[in-house]
Amino acid sequence: MKKLKAHKFTITITDVNGSRHFHLSQIIKKVALYTILFILAFLVFSAFYIDYLNGKVTEISNKREDLIQKSKELEKANEKMQESVAKKAEEYSLIENKIALFEEQLGLDSENNLTLNARLDKLNLTNEQQIGVLLQIPNGYPIENRGITGNYGWRDHPVLNRKEFHSGIDLRAPIGTPIYAPANGVVEFSSYNSNGYGYMIILVHNFGFKTVYAHMTRKDVVQPGEFVTKGQLIGYTGNTGVSTGPHLHYEVRFINKTLEPLYFLNLTRKNMDKFFNQERRVPWQSLIKAISTQASQKQQ
Ligand SMILES: [Zn+2]
Repeated sequence: MKKLKAHKFTITITDVNGSRHFHLSQIIKKVALYTILFILAFLVFSAFYIDYLNGKVTEISNKREDLIQKSKELEKANEKMQESVAKKAEEYSLIENKIALFEEQLGLDSENNLTLNARLDKLNLTNEQQIGVLLQIPNGYPIENRGITGNYGWRDHPVLNRKEFHSGIDLRAPIGTPIYAPANGVVEFSSYNSNGYGYMIILVHNFGFKTVYAHMTRKDVVQPGEFVTKGQLIGYTGNTGVSTGPHLHYEVRFINKTLEPLYFLNLTRKNMDKFFNQERRVPWQSLIKAISTQASQKQQ
């Protein structure tokens, strides 16, 4: 039990052990002492805390310095990388320019869609050699291209109602359409064929190629044994022999076999690589090697 009794200047606390008297001056002294102690403790604590915070600030600012340093280093590294990238890009563009220059000198179109390697490979056959090949191997349409009416290969015979191998391609052509030699060559045959081809011409070209023109109109434009050059008029289309209508039956042969004429119709200087890969029944590698060898022999 506690009892607080306020005298004039005395506080008396009474409990089971008796009463104690506190004079006001004593209380004030104690309060002042505790206050001072508290303030001192607070100051000491504050000093420590401020010191701790200072430490933290130093630590953080050190870290910041470190980070700035690192960021600068990264920036430098990045600059160096960019420099080397720019250098490489410049080198690449120089190489590209060189190739473009070569291509220009060789009369080739710059084909930027091709990879660098493909473009370098293409330079293996020189411009002169490519022109040579295209003068000697049949290429392009021998008549004005009006479309194809019959494909090369197995088909149902339009008249005889059985499977037959169509050894050429049928090109749409009104009677009297001029036919031009698709390559240099010599006329082997220019006469009537009684096996269904009607009036026909066979041209012999270099490297074992032949072209055949069937169902023609009889007009003696070229004679057997006559040499013809690419683009020269050799005759006119017609509807002779076994034919369901006016058209040109066109064949390309290599030694003793017929080939897909469509590849030869579509052959240009631009797609020679594709062409070599399409028609696999001709050993093109061997031909290219022969042409290259011939070229080096000429130089000696
Ligand atoms: Zn035909």
